[in-house]
Amino acid sequence: MQLIDTHAHIYSSKFDADRDQVMEEIRAAGVSKIFMPNVDVDSIDRMLDCEARYRDLCVPMMGLHPCEVGDDFEAQLQVMENWLNTRPFAAVGEIGTDLYWDKTNLDRQLKALEIQVGWAKAKELPIVLHCRESMELTIEFIEKAHNSKLRGIFHCFTGTLVQAKRIVEMGFLLGIGGVVTYKNGGLDQVIPYIGLEHLVLETDAPYLSPVPHRGKRNSPANLPFVAERVGALLQIPAALVAEATSAQALQLFTRIEK
Ligand SMILES: [Zn+2]
Repeated sequence: MQLIDTHAHIYSSKFDADRDQVMEEIRAAGVSKIFMPNVDVDSIDRMLDCEARYRDLCVPMMGLHPCEVGDDFEAQLQVMENWLNTRPFAAVGEIGTDLYWDKTNLDRQLKALEIQVGWAKAKELPIVLHCRESMELTIEFIEKAHNSKLRGIFHCFTGTLVQAKRIVEMGFLLGIGGVVTYKNGGLDQVIPYIGLEHLVLETDAPYLSPVPHRGKRNSPANLPFVAERVGALLQIPAALVAEATSAQALQLFTRIEK
């Protein structure tokens, strides 16, 4: 089974003590690529260091996470735009909105999102979207910003079937992770009614470990548990889920894979 993790913060300090060993476990689990979403200006060096050390596995994105949109966001975006003009990245990410941690700076979050979606359009790069407790407003934003070329992933999708349909209608993919294995995750009401062709897999490591490792540090090596559960919901073998979602992930991030 060959798998692709479309979203893992493998450069996180949570892996500093044993990263080499974790990478071996990841390879042994059949994961052949890890797409790394950036968070803020301070995570860039660590992310690029991971790429340099595990070049066959780790591919970086560039973007400012909505939880890191502070007073200095314009300065941070300037640094990131310079990086995007300097070398290739697989996507603009992770970007989006978050009303779980801070509801007071939504205007600023939307401004940062608008700027970064503009980069993606200009450079014809996919976007990787984070929307926590803000699914509806993020879908509305992308529906307005959408053009025929804008593509991407709604990472850690946990919305309703109606929301899922609006997303796939725009040609966007649903990023499915550990939540699919949670009893109250709600994705059993979505995935059976959305085709496999609209899904990609992710871990969001070190967060959101799938069952049976829920609550522990997550790793891309846990991706087979996600593939198994998606297969069970679609009543198809996990190997088929792995094959289709890997092809879709590579197709989206082609700029690197060509
Ligand atoms: Zn993330």
